[in-house]
Amino acid sequence: MTIDTWGRVRSELATTIGKDAFNNWIKPLELIDEAGGVARFSVPTNFFGDWVLRNYGDRILQGLVDGGSRIERLDFQVVKPTSPAERPSPSTSAPQPRPETSRSSQPRDAAAELPGSPLDKRFTFDRFVVGKPNELAHAAARRVAEGGPVTFNPLFLYGGVGLGKTHLMHAIAWEIQKRTPQARVLYLSAEQFMYRFVQSLRFKDMLGFKAMFRSVDVLMVDDVQFIAGKESTQDEFFHTFNALVDQHKQIVISADRAPGEISGLEERIKSRLQCGLVVDLHPTDYELRLGILQSKAEVQAGHYPDVRLADGVLEFLAHRISTNVRVLEGALTRLFAFASLVGREVTLDVAQECLADILRASDRKVTIDEIIRKVADHYNLRLSDMLSPRRARAVARPRQVAMFLSKMLTSKSLPEIGRRFGGRDHTTVIHAVRKIEELKAVDNQIAEDVELLRRMLEA
Ligand code: ADP
Ligand code: MG
Repeated sequence: MTIDTWGRVRSELATTIGKDAFNNWIKPLELIDEAGGVARFSVPTNFFGDWVLRNYGDRILQGLVDGGSRIERLDFQVVKPTSPAERPSPSTSAPQPRPETSRSSQPRDAAAELPGSPLDKRFTFDRFVVGKPNELAHAAARRVAEGGPVTFNPLFLYGGVGLGKTHLMHAIAWEIQKRTPQARVLYLSAEQFMYRFVQSLRFKDMLGFKAMFRSVDVLMVDDVQFIAGKESTQDEFFHTFNALVDQHKQIVISADRAPGEISGLEERIKSRLQCGLVVDLHPTDYELRLGILQSKAEVQAGHYPDVRLADGVLEFLAHRISTNVRVLEGALTRLFAFASLVGREVTLDVAQECLADILRASDRKVTIDEIIRKVADHYNLRLSDMLSPRRARAVARPRQVAMFLSKMLTSKSLPEIGRRFGGRDHTTVIHAVRKIEELKAVDNQIAEDVELLRRMLEA
């Protein structure tokens, strides 16, 4: 029987042509059927079939004939992956073509289909909160999305983790697709770019690869630092890049740092990247974090209509959680889920308890000592005044400000804070926190003092 024969030919090839060649070229072959003197095999791409025929055709044919098959010719067909039930023949002895190898033939077969990454529905301009740290990046992204004559190419967005690079790129893609549905927008990570490239090398489909990348109107490559040090991928990226720029196609790139700072990136690529507009997303500040939290809390409130956040909770999170927006979002999601489960209003204490691990991890490491020193300085008091039992307003008010800041900026418990202020009770601290919260709303001077001190301590 031919399938058995094919099985024997395969094992023979496995020992004669070497493991790598076998895994690359023979293993993916699947015998479909044998009729009229022709043995038909499925292959992932046409190039793949040509290669196998040229290099191993004779040996395969000879092996089959030696095994007793009446075969005169081999035939290779590109077969899209199907479920086992739909397969034309029960040749289960051969592995099925892996979906990703089959996909690499698509640029040749279906020119309309682009192998990009899916876009996140939530990552639109509507949902992007703009503040000082990201306003330039946002404006540039908008401009690119709105099209018209290309003013800066490429647009290079860079910044730390979780600051909204991917969000802005998706927003550009959504907006372009909305405005110009026929535009071919390709968004993918640099890692995927490399993967496609390596696949096309492996399956000798470089022409397909090049044609596909050169056919897009807008190319967006996310996290380009990934290809640093990967020479041939960089090379191909550079050629793709140049070809598109020459055709006046828009390119948008992101990375975790500026082009000049990516080590292992070739100079010519760095300078090409610097030719366009390079904008960075700065670490978020308090105001931006609060704005983002407010906007996300509204969305969450839609999912959890019963949950209520006490006043000051969002402010607390904005103070205490690091600049990474992803962490901020995670904290908020957890709070809402927690509150809806336990059916309690989310107070500051609930928030602290529920997010203890996140708060610890993003602790700014402001110490109570520092707070006491800065506050004393600010109000022109001696350190001993802050810790003394004196209750005169001139001393008591600054002390309350310091307690408030200790609660806001450190993860120390109320009793611990009380102890550090000359051995006071935790109820005194609670009182201080409430008092300052109230005063902030009605007394501009206090509000300004607190804000100024907070900035100094967090700087
Ligand atoms: P990066 O790609 O820079 O690491 P992302 O774009 O993946 O960061 O952003 C991380 C998360 O934070 C995403 O869920 C994103 O929607 C959100 N995010 C970041 N910046 C903003 C912003 N300014 N407004 C709203 N959401 C934001
Ligand atoms: Mg990203």
